[in-house]
Amino acid sequence: MTAHAFPVDHELERCPFMPTYAPPQVLFVRGRGTELWDEAGRRYLDFLCGLGVTSLGHAHPEVAAAVAEQAATLLHVSNLFATRPAAGVAATLDRHLGGGGQVFFTNSGAEANECAIKLARRWGGGQHGRWQVISAYGSFHGRTLAALAATGQPTKHEPFQPLPPGFRHVAWGDVDAAAAAVDDTVAAVLVEPVQGEGGVVPAPPGYLAGLRELCDDLGLLLIVDEVQTGLGRTGRWFGFQHDLGEGVQPDVVTLAKALGNGVPVGACWARAEVAGSFRPGDHGTTYGGQPLAAAAAATVLAVMERDGLPGRADAAGRRLRAGLERLPAVCTVRGRGLLLAAELEPGCDARLVQAELLRRGLVTNAVTPTAIRLAPALIVTDDEIDEAVSLLAGVLA
Ligand SMILES: *Cc1c(COP(=O)(O)O)cnc(C)c1O
Repeated sequence: MTAHAFPVDHELERCPFMPTYAPPQVLFVRGRGTELWDEAGRRYLDFLCGLGVTSLGHAHPEVAAAVAEQAATLLHVSNLFATRPAAGVAATLDRHLGGGGQVFFTNSGAEANECAIKLARRWGGGQHGRWQVISAYGSFHGRTLAALAATGQPTKHEPFQPLPPGFRHVAWGDVDAAAAAVDDTVAAVLVEPVQGEGGVVPAPPGYLAGLRELCDDLGLLLIVDEVQTGLGRTGRWFGFQHDLGEGVQPDVVTLAKALGNGVPVGACWARAEVAGSFRPGDHGTTYGGQPLAAAAAATVLAVMERDGLPGRADAAGRRLRAGLERLPAVCTVRGRGLLLAAELEPGCDARLVQAELLRRGLVTNAVTPTAIRLAPALIVTDDEIDEAVSLLAGVLA
């Protein structure tokens, strides 16, 4: 099936990209806030946000200005030297995560999880101590070999076996299943607060709190993958805050997607006692936290704080959810805040619905064959939400 919403030119089709993605359906040239425009000047409402990345909207003037100024000041010196922007972002992230932690910057979510996995092994004493990581079926933790091994989706593993050892998968949402997988080689439990790529499936109530208790009892690290859920997306600063009680924290938190509003940057935060297992030379990255990325991240965090965007995501998410729940062809809506999936009635093909929505000017994605993911910018207006819901209503009618 050719899924192009509009003709994409032949030069693009011959472009030597590896075929890791289906052929693109649209070529975008410009964005502003929640809107995108293609080459023909057609307007789209962006309810996918580059997979949960552009939380402040496209072409945010303050992010654009910060990036331009940093580009004209200092772009890169490597992590052998200090720069101001990264220091500021590390302090802000640590404050939001309760303080007393330390940060390693990366370029992506997968790398943030790689850092967490290596940290868990270092902390656990390596192969003669604790080194294995437990994660859930249905999870998604990235595409690099170790992050892929942590990802609980056997079909994604198949073509790339053998994967690095040290990963055990257990039933999602089941604390007892996690407990049963623990022995004295296990160092950590790695979990998403809402399984994003796995279909936008929130952790059942008490799951993260139960894992926290399990980790406390058995002396394991609780690593929370907030790459998709972090920084306001679910209506709180972090997805784990919906489940863990006040003042209860994970030991390690990974972030990426929304952190740079489109500039590639990720982070792995850990309690200082845990982070202190690393020694100079244990881990590194040429680019991680370089000034351009850090300038973007600093601005993203400042705008999110100033404008109260986690609260905005909560309110907007309620409106979007209520709108979706009124649609006859939608059987259930799941997710939190502005990370939602509309499960369609049996017989509906989410990929066909996604393609038709795109043709009519609404960007979403088919997160499963039967569910449409909606994750607009946290600055989405009520009018834009109503417009998106009526576009969906039109396609589903
Ligand atoms: C997207 C995602 C990743 C991977 O991030 P990349 O930047 O694509 O490497 C990891 N974990 C979760 C939960 C994600 O949603």
